[in-house]
Amino acid sequence: MAICSICGRNAGLMEEVCEGCKNGTTPGSSQVRASRGTRNMIFGLLWFFGGATVTALTLASSSSREGGGPVIYAVGAIVIGFIQFLIGLFSWLMNRNRED
Ligand SMILES: [Zn+2]
Repeated sequence: MAICSICGRNAGLMEEVCEGCKNGTTPGSSQVRASRGTRNMIFGLLWFFGGATVTALTLASSSSREGGGPVIYAVGAIVIGFIQFLIGLFSWLMNRNRED
């Protein structure tokens, strides 16, 4: 028995999400996805601005010396944050106006 990763209900033996969430018929499932989207947007923005801040700081401090490894990591955080934000944005946009 597995628990649906979206609504938390019994999803059947080997399923990750229940039938209702697959078909979008579980009451409240689109709100759950929309709020997950919101969470992804928030964490994506945190990564993005955290990475941007670290990049600015490390660029400022490393412009005088060779290398710049920390800058590359910070750019990674920006890219990952931006992607996570987009994923959250799309899932929020697709689910916010749906009626269950
Ligand atoms: Zn479900």
